[in-house]
Amino acid sequence: MFVLTGAGVSTESGIPDFRSPGGLWTRYDPRELTYDKFCSCEETRRSYWRMATEAYPTLDHARPNAAHRAIVQLERAGRLLQLVTQNIDGLHQKAGSDTERIIEIHGSALRVSCIECGKEFDRGQVHRRVLEGDSVPYCDACRGPLKPATVSFGQPMPERETLEAFEAASKCDLMIVVGSSLVVYPAAGLPDSAVAAGARLIIVNKEPTDKDANAAAVLRGSAGEAMSMLVRHAGIDAEPRP
Ligand code: NAD
Repeated sequence: MFVLTGAGVSTESGIPDFRSPGGLWTRYDPRELTYDKFCSCEETRRSYWRMATEAYPTLDHARPNAAHRAIVQLERAGRLLQLVTQNIDGLHQKAGSDTERIIEIHGSALRVSCIECGKEFDRGQVHRRVLEGDSVPYCDACRGPLKPATVSFGQPMPERETLEAFEAASKCDLMIVVGSSLVVYPAAGLPDSAVAAGARLIIVNKEPTDKDANAAAVLRGSAGEAMSMLVRHAGIDAEPRP
């Protein structure tokens, strides 16, 4: 089994998705915060860090919900081979999913790296620097601009992670997509690869998606409730330890 998660798996943890009311893209224009503009324009870097600094405390304080815990239960019962998340919030790791089994295909907001030399920094420390007035933080090694280690619009996808995700998708017998609008590619192509290779697809979402027609089953509702139900139906009942 392959599980692909999107922002909707974390809304019940208090992290808004991008497109629903209140989401970041309703207040910031993603076309203004592309990777190219971040690399070339100091004012874009300042806006980007303003947005990232507004979003970080919510990510930092969020706790996993029933959907994250259900995925841990599937894994501990030996049912889950691969977990791919588009999320950047680290909640699967906080819930107890095996870090070796998770591919963060869009990176993580809990890390920061230098776009010039790649040096990594602790997000909490950089967050404090920004709050203290360092509105665009720079690398202490090479003076390159620092950026949360997430994949921005126009930024190349991490090659190894993307290849691994597509390879696993083409080998799975069942893919469950939880809380993704399935409009952001290449991640949205993972269910297509799985179905093309003969896998069954289950989509869990409170709204319709463009790929519902390809699914063997669509569970319309809350990710937490649907995933808990799925785990009960699979005959797995032990709650994972925190
Ligand atoms: P999206 O915002 O495009 O879609 C979220 C989907 O989840 C929607 O289809 C919505 O109907 C559904 N949904 C929302 N709450 C739900 C719930 N409680 N139960 C079931 N379904 C629910 O998100 P996406 O498809 O992941 O892609 C957009 C990008 O947004 C990704 O690249 C991701 O990195 C980024 N993002 C991540 C976070 C996070 O890390 N938590 C938050 C916002 C955006």
